[in-house]
Amino acid sequence: MLKLSEIWSAACHSQDFTMTRVEFMTVRFRWLAALLMLGIPAWSLIDWLTLDAALHAFLLKARMTTFLALSPLIPFSFFIDYRLGRMRVALFYLMGVMLAFALACMVALGNPAELQVGYTAFPYLMISLFAVFPLTLMMGLLISLLIFVSLLGGRCLLLGQPLFGMETLNQLWLLGMFTLAAAWVQCGQLNMLLRLYRESTTDELTGMMNRRLLMKKISQLCEEEGCEGWTLMLIDLDRFKRVNDEFGHLAGDAVLHTVATTLAEQLEQAQVLGRYGGEEFVILLRHEGGREEARRLAERLRLSVEARQVKSPTTETLIEVTVSIGVAMGRKGDSAQSLIGRADESLYQAKIDGRNCVVVEPPPASVPMAG
Ligand code: GH3
Ligand code: MG
Ligand code: MG
Repeated sequence: MLKLSEIWSAACHSQDFTMTRVEFMTVRFRWLAALLMLGIPAWSLIDWLTLDAALHAFLLKARMTTFLALSPLIPFSFFIDYRLGRMRVALFYLMGVMLAFALACMVALGNPAELQVGYTAFPYLMISLFAVFPLTLMMGLLISLLIFVSLLGGRCLLLGQPLFGMETLNQLWLLGMFTLAAAWVQCGQLNMLLRLYRESTTDELTGMMNRRLLMKKISQLCEEEGCEGWTLMLIDLDRFKRVNDEFGHLAGDAVLHTVATTLAEQLEQAQVLGRYGGEEFVILLRHEGGREEARRLAERLRLSVEARQVKSPTTETLIEVTVSIGVAMGRKGDSAQSLIGRADESLYQAKIDGRNCVVVEPPPASVPMAG
């Protein structure tokens, strides 16, 4: 389902999707910059064949200057580092250089009636080139607007074209058509990327984040910020195989879906919940109140699942289910693996302690306690 707000601006995109989109755009940006750096000087051969010597010499200088101005873009693209702000700077710089080149050509070639076909089409080519990026509608329209204003300003100020007249109307019409076509392609790409991203990061049954995104988030947190101050809970349904065996897999699926919804209801927006594996879920949250608060929340989660009954979709029987929860407290130098590993040990202890209980990992170098 296409949502206009997601297509219009990046404000409602998740941080992870933005990083994915910027990564995708960075590769294309690098190729586009390389292509322009090759194409702009190479076109000089056509100038040499079609234009007089003085004009050719001027345009060659403009082309070489443009080449030099574009040359920092490829090294800069390695510095973008998944950041949307830097990507925007790169795009506007590229556009600025190309507009400066277009205006230099306009001055050199003079009266629009005498413009060569390749040069007349230049602004429209620019709009089309930006369609290689999955840009938001707002960004696409802004780029077209800036190109239109620069082009019109250049023609009025440098060539004396009247602001209101047939020429302006023609340019507006043509740019409008190109803008529409480019926006369609950009939004189509953005929408496709959003769908692919969702499919590859969402668990189909529960609608929550899947193991791939969950692991990425935990790894990023441990590597960039450090896991200290974070709590990880590993939640496993008790004797879930029996539910499948007694009531069938459809009922098992309904139980998983209800447990996921129940857990989500108990959590705040900033707390991460994902499906780790078959009947296991992970919750990642900041622990402001330390181990006791983590235990209280885990207990609340356990009780909320215990209190919920699930109607079997096939037999209408009410199914009861419980969960065991293993809790690990992040430490300095933890990796995603070590943190999950310790939560798994606590979970194992909870299963040994009889299931339907919470075990918080003991503080370093002390005895395990069941809660
Ligand atoms: P324990 O209390 O020790 O965790 O026992 P358990 O039966 O929950 O654990 P076990 O690992 O033996 O079985 C897990 C079961 O979860 C086996 C598998 O068929 C079931 N399962 C995993 N994913 C799904 C799913 O997506 N849908 C359904 N219906 N069942 C699933
Ligand atoms: Mg399990
Ligand atoms: Mg289980």
